[in-house]
Amino acid sequence: MTRYKIGIFAGDGIGPEIMDEGVKILKLIEQRNDVSFELIPAAFGANAYFSHGDCFPDETKAICDEVDALIKGPIGLSHEDSKKIPVDLQPERGALLPMRRRLNTYANFRPVSLPKELAHFSPLKPEVIGEGIDLIMVRELVGGLYFGNKEVGVNADGRRYVNEALEYDEDQISRILIEAFKVASGRKQVLHNIHKSNVLKSSVLWNEVLEEIAPDFPDVEVKHMLVDAAATALCLNPGQFDVMVMENMFGDILSDQGGGILGSLGLMPSACIGPEKAYYEPSHGSAPDIAGQNIANPYSMIGSVAMMLEYSFGMHDEAKNVWAAMQGIFADGYSTADLSKPGSDVRMIATNEFGDKVAEKLLAQG
Ligand code: NAD
Repeated sequence: MTRYKIGIFAGDGIGPEIMDEGVKILKLIEQRNDVSFELIPAAFGANAYFSHGDCFPDETKAICDEVDALIKGPIGLSHEDSKKIPVDLQPERGALLPMRRRLNTYANFRPVSLPKELAHFSPLKPEVIGEGIDLIMVRELVGGLYFGNKEVGVNADGRRYVNEALEYDEDQISRILIEAFKVASGRKQVLHNIHKSNVLKSSVLWNEVLEEIAPDFPDVEVKHMLVDAAATALCLNPGQFDVMVMENMFGDILSDQGGGILGSLGLMPSACIGPEKAYYEPSHGSAPDIAGQNIANPYSMIGSVAMMLEYSFGMHDEAKNVWAAMQGIFADGYSTADLSKPGSDVRMIATNEFGDKVAEKLLAQG
């Protein structure tokens, strides 16, 4: 029997609710395979600040180092509640970015997928969606503006100022581009390089490195697009994209737009991969506006579990089974509240019911 240790960081807001559904599916997968998952829960995020005085306590750091992979719920508080935590200790600055740095999870894969039959979930018109949306965003996750030097102070004129650096070196750029080329090579052999080289020197270097790497992937056609144009193109013609690669902040923003064109951030799982460690998390935040109501969409979390089965444990068939089970629920006419529009005949189900239905479908597959 293969044994894996998995860190379970439920997080804040809707995190614990959707994590319960992810764990439900993990346990089911464990039961029917020659595999054992040791699930190790840990405090991470605002909840950890209130219980341990630190959004990323030492015990949680130790668990990061010990596990084979980990799955994480969203962290963070509402704008107002965030003020209860000092700025430098707040969940993203105090936990998320340090964890990404610690695990060196530089490659973030964010599928944006909506089959044609589910086009009614999207705010885009069916003729815009065409044959469906099926693209993957590859986002650099441990560099750029989010990790650069930060300086806050008062200048000589007595004015408050801030200076944040967008830093990349060529190795950081090449390793994420290589990942993106590999993904593109295994899909439709088209890679959209998203940048801002008309303004940012970091994008100029990014593109230079890309030109050097591209000959190693002769089967992949590279298409360049400025990030602002890409934001529009995602709405007007998402079908033109298959694999998109971009630096950290562009990926943060464009991937939320990915959730927008699908109809909900609840449809956005992700995988964060480093040379030795990987973790998996929904792309969205802790949704304080709907927390505690059992209405969040756990697709993003269960999809993150599917990505962990595939990327970390090589359980490709089970990963496919999980995706198929979730699509089947939508095909049966059910959805969580985020995807049901006024006047639609979609039957609304709760967070836990969605998880139960995924489990039922998996069991029915045998
Ligand atoms: P958000 O992603 O939490 O929510 C935006 C909107 O999407 C809300 O209306 C929310 O209800 C909805 N939504 C998100 N996930 C959903 C789901 N699974 N099912 C149904 N609806 C869903 O963004 P926000 O409100 O700007 O941020 C809330 C907190 O999350 C902030 O503290 C922010 O810093 C944090 N955040 C954390 C992460 C992370 O942990 N990786 C990522 C983004 C934001």
